[in-house]
Amino acid sequence: MASVSTVCVIHFDEEDGRVARFTEHAYQRVVECREIWKTLDGKQREVAENTGSLDDWQDSAVGYHRGCYSKFTNKTLIDRAIARCEKARLRSTDDLSLSDKEKMNTSG
Ligand SMILES: [Zn+2]
Repeated sequence: MASVSTVCVIHFDEEDGRVARFTEHAYQRVVECREIWKTLDGKQREVAENTGSLDDWQDSAVGYHRGCYSKFTNKTLIDRAIARCEKARLRSTDDLSLSDKEKMNTSG
């Protein structure tokens, strides 16, 4: 049998090179960030939603590119995305309350 090739499970298109196997630490970090990204937006969210088989990481040939790992677990990127989503949420709440008022006016 040929040697098992390791697949990057948190892959971003532009990254390339050797795929590292997960360590316990890297795995925990990816799982943690995956849950956060699922509530945010951007490319990382798509990647987070495509990491289905992560649960068998110890048995299967899954791993990560260094570049992909740092994009996925970068605290600055996460904080920025949180701030961006928060702003978007606030703005849509404003819109809602505005249209609520309008509704009240027209129905009253
Ligand atoms: Zn990758």
